[in-house]
Amino acid sequence: MSVDISTKITVKKASTSKISEVDFDNLPFGQVTTDHMFVCDYKDGKWQQPQVVPYQNISLDPSAKIFHYGQSIFEGMKAYKDNEDQIWLFRPLDNQKRINISAKRLSMPEFPEDYFMEGLKTLLKVESNWIPKTPGSSMYIRPFVLATGNGFHASPADEYKFVIACSPSGAYFGGEVKVLIEQNYSRSANGGVGFAKAGGNYAGQFYPTQLAKAKGYQQVIWTDDNTHEYIEEAGAMNVFVRIGDTLLTCPTSDRILDGITRKSIIAIAEEEGIPVEIRKISVKELVEASNNGTLKEMFGAGTAAVVSPIAGFGFQDKDYDLPTIENSYAVRFKKRITDIQYNRAEDPFGWRYQVK
Ligand SMILES: *Cc1c(COP(=O)(O)O)cnc(C)c1O
Repeated sequence: MSVDISTKITVKKASTSKISEVDFDNLPFGQVTTDHMFVCDYKDGKWQQPQVVPYQNISLDPSAKIFHYGQSIFEGMKAYKDNEDQIWLFRPLDNQKRINISAKRLSMPEFPEDYFMEGLKTLLKVESNWIPKTPGSSMYIRPFVLATGNGFHASPADEYKFVIACSPSGAYFGGEVKVLIEQNYSRSANGGVGFAKAGGNYAGQFYPTQLAKAKGYQQVIWTDDNTHEYIEEAGAMNVFVRIGDTLLTCPTSDRILDGITRKSIIAIAEEEGIPVEIRKISVKELVEASNNGTLKEMFGAGTAAVVSPIAGFGFQDKDYDLPTIENSYAVRFKKRITDIQYNRAEDPFGWRYQVK
């Protein structure tokens, strides 16, 4: 798509600010929203004037396709403030590319790269005071696209809205996570939309996750839809396993989201000389490794928590506890990544991106 780069983003400032009502020392995750949002509408076959406007409700016709056919995609990213009040993003172009991969799969129009990056930067500069500085906190950023076009006919909408909303957030504490290896339900299937950050993927996860919670687990480990023999993701995170000192994760596919945290962990592990294997991981192998004491760690990886250590897993009515170990990979990768994100350490990978 050709874009007129001279298109200036219009900024309409809110007349009042909610910021004085916010307790920045006790921020929840993803609950507080800021004063402004970025919006850009798609109609007549093209993206219209991009704008930063006061944070507000979105009003839609009841026949809008989003309500019926679920054309909805999103991204999750964060902005970080360092000690000098400089603002940083982490690999933002990967999010920009990925939202368009999702868009294509859901028959939605792609959003131009410079609109995405300029929109994001303009919004973050307007909301700069909202980016929290308390340790572990950050500005969670939610870009999303929804089908606003009308009509009950089951076909792609002709109008869409691209939005970026922000939420100053405290550290994401999942607590001790016990997971259930899912043997009935599937998150995604061959040829499906599992690789896309499509809204419906998450709606479909809630019920099996509730069932797991009722059994005393906090999260589900998704297995392949065909055999349920191979692990694929941990809830809405990619999954890693440490057997002996080898780090294992399964290859991405059309069933698995290609996580930015996942690929960052793989790059760090390789740089640090940790043996990495990207291959299918069977539940049988996990059970055997647990029984013979070589299963040292399991953790989820994603933007919100960075890494989320798993304390144990349930499989076929049996629980397998993971040991508490020193020199955990989970802790090590989390520190490496967050030190880069908050500009506390060198970034040999070129992942950090300054907003200025
Ligand atoms: C977003 C997401 C991830 C993690 O991706 P990141 O880019 O690391 O945040 C993993 N799995 C699923 C299903 C996701 O939606």
